Amino acid sequence: MPPLHFFRHRFLRPAGLLLLLLLTFFHAGQALALDISDVRFGAHGEKTRMVLDMDEMADFRVFTLSSPYRIVIDLPAFNWNAGTIEKPVNPNITAVRHGLLKPGISRIVFDVDHPVNIHAAFTLPAQSNKASRLVLDLGPASEALFERNKGKIFGMLSDEYAPPAATAQAPPPYREASLGAMTPPKPQSVIVKPLIVIDPGHGGVDPGASGANGVYERAVTLALGKELRKQLLATGRYRVEMTRDTDVFIKLADRVKFARKHNADLFVSLHADSLENGKVSGASIYTLSEKASDAQTAKLAARENRADLVAGIDLSVEDKDVANILLDLAMRDTMNQSKFFANTLVGTFKSHSLKTLDTPHRSAGFAVLKAPDIPSVLIETGFMSNRREADLLNNPTHRKKLGKAILSGIDTYFEQVRKNQKI
Ligand code: ZN
Repeated sequence: MPPLHFFRHRFLRPAGLLLLLLLTFFHAGQALALDISDVRFGAHGEKTRMVLDMDEMADFRVFTLSSPYRIVIDLPAFNWNAGTIEKPVNPNITAVRHGLLKPGISRIVFDVDHPVNIHAAFTLPAQSNKASRLVLDLGPASEALFERNKGKIFGMLSDEYAPPAATAQAPPPYREASLGAMTPPKPQSVIVKPLIVIDPGHGGVDPGASGANGVYERAVTLALGKELRKQLLATGRYRVEMTRDTDVFIKLADRVKFARKHNADLFVSLHADSLENGKVSGASIYTLSEKASDAQTAKLAARENRADLVAGIDLSVEDKDVANILLDLAMRDTMNQSKFFANTLVGTFKSHSLKTLDTPHRSAGFAVLKAPDIPSVLIETGFMSNRREADLLNNPTHRKKLGKAILSGIDTYFEQVRKNQKI
């Protein structure tokens, strides 16, 4: 979903773009995007508060890096009008750079000469004589604390500020501050509906669990997938792709590739479980477990062009070690979103009177959930080994109910994403 700040650029025409380019050249791009008008510091005991004045609310992403110690702030592409920054006593800032990280996203880097701890990072809306603000509360950190917190991202910056990968030009190199104002105009945004990839489990030579009623998992997951697609499309709010909509076999890795190829915003894998104990029934929702994800992250990093993998982070500008850290960070961000979506689904399953297991949100190393940049869940919709539930899963009315619960979860998820983008 394009964030709101994007909308004001959608009417730009070539003549307007030319004008903007000229304005950019002569007036440091003041007509473009976000404006950073000041960076201020205030001491509060041990803590130092950093305040960035902005002309409007914006999404952000804040984290620290080492060697040298840095505080990094990513924002939608901005114009830098902050002038001279009055340095605080603590932390001792040795340099400030800013520039375009990739089309649509700008970065500010503060070099500091010792480890820093970010206690909080948040935005405040404009009020009376105050501009919209991004606030960072900073404090000193031991080496150990810094190392522990290095991986922590504050805030959320959607990659949708950048053009879709398929149409994106290679991003210009990340430069020093003096070039920060030469941000090219944002490309005309196309308002795109979120793309949901539905992944009906199994298929073809892989029948999945066999039902107590003789029906196979591959059949009920496909039927449910089609029902969910119908409901999603009927809202007019989503685009939908299915990894399969016939009874064919597809490798797990190819399902993930399919979702990534389509730039999916959400990946929903549909399954139905089986146990020896035929009495067990109820749905459960899975996200990738952190442990399993680390090895996979490493493999992905080796196989693929890492810069393509990580939404919103230009790995080509960082050294290898940092690139690995950033890949982990992107993965963690995705996993947080996956977990949020899974918990939302638990709620909507309950509100739709669908039976769930006692601990309905679980995590495991499902290969199909390993897209590092797409929030993904796997839903075990019930147990084929339970006669009653196998019959329910084979029943179109019940599948309609399941579809409604999943749709409701998807709606809630994207409402929250939209809120996060507005702060
Ligand atoms: Zn399955």
